[in-house]
Amino acid sequence: MTWDIIGQERAIAVLRRAVEDESRLSHAYLFAGPEHVGKATAARRFAQALNCEADGDRPCGECRTCRLIAEDKYADVEFVGVGGICEETEHRDHSADGSRDIRICQIRRLQKVVSRAPFEARYRVIIIDPADALTQDAANAFLKTLEEPPPSVVLVLITAREAALRETVRSRCRRVGFSGVPRAQIEAALQERWQAEPELASRLARLAQGRLGWAVAALEDERLLIDRDEVIDEIETLLAGGDEERFGYAASLGARYPRDPATVRSSLAVWEAWWGDVLLVAAGQESLAAETERLDTLRSHAAQYGVAGAVTALNAVADARRHLEEHASPTLALEVMLLELPRAGARAGS
Ligand SMILES: [Zn+2]
Ligand SMILES: [Zn+2]
Repeated sequence: MTWDIIGQERAIAVLRRAVEDESRLSHAYLFAGPEHVGKATAARRFAQALNCEADGDRPCGECRTCRLIAEDKYADVEFVGVGGICEETEHRDHSADGSRDIRICQIRRLQKVVSRAPFEARYRVIIIDPADALTQDAANAFLKTLEEPPPSVVLVLITAREAALRETVRSRCRRVGFSGVPRAQIEAALQERWQAEPELASRLARLAQGRLGWAVAALEDERLLIDRDEVIDEIETLLAGGDEERFGYAASLGARYPRDPATVRSSLAVWEAWWGDVLLVAAGQESLAAETERLDTLRSHAAQYGVAGAVTALNAVADARRHLEEHASPTLALEVMLLELPRAGARAGS
């Protein structure tokens, strides 16, 4: 099997070298890069490779250890995420209580776990995903473990929001960068591995913006494409409407953010992709646009708002995303974004 991760050759090369030559192995890694590009899979492969029983290429994917890790049944490899278990008797199970954070009680449990020798592994591997969900208290409590974990422990922190991690955490990890997967590689993989029809593979690869994991998920669940279309319909409606509609949209998305940040983030990713396409069309690069099913609308937006309008909109969306990461009021961040968007008929010149 080996690593079997598409489009992350550089990241995998770093990990492969650490497995082959353990003097290069760090005790803490930060896997940083966009969502859905293979970071968690790479962390699992890394845990397998570090513990694989095969003599040759590791991970073999076939030995008992590789298989147990693949199935999440290996006691010495643990994924720690939002809403995981802790040992506080008065706490309910955090996966049932709607927790959106990785809490200090989860970290305290982890500290106990890492202080014990592994059951059978060469390396106990702890994967924190997403590391940006650590509360401030949890991150502080975790610093000591990050600084000097026991020798047989390897920590892997995963994030798509590197800026949201504190410098004290980042500086204690070896960074491994992951990047968006090239469009052609996504298209080929969808056809060859997931047996997608060529036309659909091409469309999903265009819309995926480097996120192979998203393209595969969209292949398996058509809802993702429908949701995406709905966001674009909303964009069109809002651009045609007035301030009242914009404030209403900001309020509803803002209210949603605390309980469902992932959906709000993915809506903003669609906003960004849309304006990126408007910019391309306005700049005469229509063949590079992703949303080719809506070329007519793209052309009309491009004619209406021009390059300058698209750039203004892209900046407004980027600012909103950053404000959300910085824990600004979600509704306020989204209101500001919508007010900064260009208005129909008010072409800013290009
Ligand atoms: Zn193996
Ligand atoms: Zn707890």
